[in-house]
Amino acid sequence: MTSCTALRRLTTSALALAPMIPALAHSAPVPVPTSAEAAQALDLAQREIAIRSVRGEANRTADVAALIRDRLIAGGWAPGDVVVTKRGETATLVAKWAGSDPRLKPLVLSGHMDVVEAKRGDWVRDPFGPVIEDGVLYGRGATDMKFDGALMVSAVIDLRAHGYKPRRGIVIAFSGDEETVMATSAALANELKDADMVINADGGGGTFADGTDKPLFWLWDGNEKAYADYQLEVTNPGGHSSEPRHDNAIVQLAQALVKVGAYQFPPEQNELTKAWFERAAQFQADPAKAAAMRAFAANPNDAAPLALVRADPDLVGKTGTTCVATMLSGGHAENALPQRARANINCRIFPGHSREAIMAELKGAIASDVVKITDVTDGSITPPVTPLRADYVAAADKAIHAAWGRDIAILPNQASGGSDSMFYRANGVPAYNASPVFTRRDERMSHGLNERVRLVNIKPALTFYFNLIPDLTK
Ligand SMILES: [Zn+2]
Repeated sequence: MTSCTALRRLTTSALALAPMIPALAHSAPVPVPTSAEAAQALDLAQREIAIRSVRGEANRTADVAALIRDRLIAGGWAPGDVVVTKRGETATLVAKWAGSDPRLKPLVLSGHMDVVEAKRGDWVRDPFGPVIEDGVLYGRGATDMKFDGALMVSAVIDLRAHGYKPRRGIVIAFSGDEETVMATSAALANELKDADMVINADGGGGTFADGTDKPLFWLWDGNEKAYADYQLEVTNPGGHSSEPRHDNAIVQLAQALVKVGAYQFPPEQNELTKAWFERAAQFQADPAKAAAMRAFAANPNDAAPLALVRADPDLVGKTGTTCVATMLSGGHAENALPQRARANINCRIFPGHSREAIMAELKGAIASDVVKITDVTDGSITPPVTPLRADYVAAADKAIHAAWGRDIAILPNQASGGSDSMFYRANGVPAYNASPVFTRRDERMSHGLNERVRLVNIKPALTFYFNLIPDLTK
C-alpha cells in the first residue's frame, strides 16, 4: 500500500468526517503575523525562561504568572479578568475573555508555567539565561513549554488587537506544577469543568526533516494512556538459610516476574492509533517495519506484523496496555531465608480500561496464591477516551496547513505520557495537545540538557493560532 492510498483510506474514516466550518459573514480575514508581533512573542518567551520556576525552595512560578498577567492587562484584559492564584509555593493563572454569546461554553487554552530543574554546571549555556545563537533559542522551557506558552498567549493578545470578537469565551488556564505533582493541574480542570474543549500547547508538535527547517509531519495528541503501579509481594515465615524450605519468597516472586515479563496484553486499536499507524508508516525508513505498521492498522490481531511492531520500543506502547517490572527488593540477611520479596510493576493502560481490570488481568497471568498484588498508584487517574471532535480536526488541519504549507502530513496520536489534559478529559472535557512548534529529531531536549527551539517557528505558530482560535470560537 502506498502512503497515498493510506491517506485516501483515512479520508473515509471518522477522522475525516469533519465538515468544513462555514466562514461566518462577519468574520474578519485571518491576520498575517507582523515582525513586531513575532518580536513581542519572543520577548515574552525569553522573559519567562529567565524566571526560575522550578519546584522547591525559591520557586518563582508566581513571577511567571505575574509577567503573563501584566502582558494580558496591557493587551486589553480587565485586571479582574486575569486571576493569579497562589497555591502553596506555586501559582496558577486564569484569564477570561468573554464571548458575545454567554450560552456557549468556553474554549480553554491550556499550558503550564513550571519547568524541570536544570543545573548550570551541566549545561553549555545558562539554562535560565536565555541565549539566542544562530536562530536558536536555548534555555530551560524552550521546548517544555515557555516558548509554546508565550506564542499561545501572544497570539490571543494579537487577535484582540486585530479587533477579533469571539462568540465563544476564551479562557487561558496555566498550571504551576505540571512537571511534578500536578495538584494545580487537577484544581484548574475542576474549576473549568464547564469548558467546551481544551487546546493544550504542552504536547503534540511537528518534525523537521533532519538537518533542515523543512517541515515533514505534524502530530497532535487526542488521548493518553493511564499510568499505574502495582506491587507484587510474597511473604514467608523465613528461617535459617542452612535449612531451606521449598516456599522461598524470592524464588516465588521471581517466578511471578517471569510470567509478567512474558505476558502480552491483547492488541488494541482506536481511531487515533489506527490513523497514526496508517500515516506514520510513510516516515518509517525500514520498509519491513513500515509494511508491518500498515498491516497492524488494517488488522491489529494479525500475529506477524503485531510481533514486529511490538519489538520496537517506539511503537509497542501504541498497540495496547504494557506492564513491566521496574523495581525489586527482598530478603534481610545473607544467611536468612527471605521473609519478604517485593517488586513494582509499572503499567501504561490503553484508554478504556480501569486500573482494577488491568490488575485482575495481571493476577490471572501470574496465577499464584502466594503472590499478593496491590494497586499502589500514586494519584494517577484513568481518563476516558476523548471523543474525536470534527470541529477540532477541521480547525487543526486548516490551521497547521495555513502555518506550514499544504504538504504537511498530520498524525493524530495517543500519547504514552501524561499532561494537564488528562484532568480535563477525566471531567468529560475533550482535550487536544496541539503545539504548532516544529523541532528536528536530534534536537528533542525536553527535560534534558541544552533545551532549544528554532526561532523560525514564531510566525507559523502565530499563524496557527490566528486560524485555530477564531475557528473554534467564532
Ligand atoms: Zn510540559
